Amino acid sequence: MQPQWEVADVLRKVDLSNQNFTVHQEKTLRALTLCRTAALGGHVDACDACGNISISYNSCRNRHCPKCQGHKREEWIQAREQDLLPCSYYHLVFTLPDSLNGLAIAHPKIVYKILFDSVWSTLNQFGKTEGLQLGMIAILHTWGQNLSLHPHLHCIIPGGGIDANGKWKRKIKADKYLFAVKALSKVFRAKFVALLRKEKLADAHVLQSLFDKNWVVYAKRPFGGPKQVIEYLGRYTHKVAISNHRIKNVTNQEVTIAYKDYKDGSKTKQLTLKNEEFTRRFSLHILPKRFVRIRHYGILSSSWKRGKLQQLQHDLNIIRPEIETKTQLKKCYCC
Ligand SMILES: [Zn+2]
Ligand SMILES: [Zn+2]
Ligand SMILES: [Zn+2]
Repeated sequence: MQPQWEVADVLRKVDLSNQNFTVHQEKTLRALTLCRTAALGGHVDACDACGNISISYNSCRNRHCPKCQGHKREEWIQAREQDLLPCSYYHLVFTLPDSLNGLAIAHPKIVYKILFDSVWSTLNQFGKTEGLQLGMIAILHTWGQNLSLHPHLHCIIPGGGIDANGKWKRKIKADKYLFAVKALSKVFRAKFVALLRKEKLADAHVLQSLFDKNWVVYAKRPFGGPKQVIEYLGRYTHKVAISNHRIKNVTNQEVTIAYKDYKDGSKTKQLTLKNEEFTRRFSLHILPKRFVRIRHYGILSSSWKRGKLQQLQHDLNIIRPEIETKTQLKKCYCC
């Protein structure tokens, strides 16, 4: 069903040039307001079945646009099906403490890169301790349910790795943890702070205070196999900060959004914000230009995929699914 309201409806009611946005943020927001409007021009599709002609407006194709996600997602999922191993997959979420939000807003490129690097370095170290080369797909989310800044990394990790002899070794534990999350959290924090220290963005006092609290590493229910992983990735990887379906009402001044309150039994509640505040929060999740938000590591990295992974799949008798070539036939809604 077409959502009644869209993020773009809110953005159109805000004077975007007057909100202290960076050039990149403002450009992105403007692109979203123009998506599938006459301003971007249109294209004509003729139905290959009945000859019916339909005209539609062009889309903005911006990666932050809630309307422009479907197509890329499909391609991405097909590519992922090619490199999944038949095993359980662990799902860990690494979260930055909110005391780092100011730094993340001022230096997103650096802070988020350090987040990726420190998480992989942590997992890699835990794997190596057990003599295993692990792999990981990591997806950066920067938002919480109410659109506030809440940077966290979703990590999907095959339940096994490559041992010293180059052989696949399963590592499945009875409980849902790959490694003890408490131990992971400590190492993750130490590695993150060490990398941040090198960047010289925060003074010694701020860096030290990051050790005052435990950092949150959360183990979600593992995936039973590659199929569940793909399903999950399909739903979540190409999400933007808020989907259009969660926008419940828009007036000239305010917008009402639905959100899940995880602190209150995940009840769905509603929140009303000034349009300017909604736009400000939405802009926090616009990533730096060309920043890669889905990354592959270890035995799922691109260097592994150039041969070694295929060899492993062959050894394990896995049949790689063929990539379907897209049908060129265009059909209209009625056919
Ligand atoms: Zn037709
Ligand atoms: Zn768009
Ligand atoms: Zn998330």
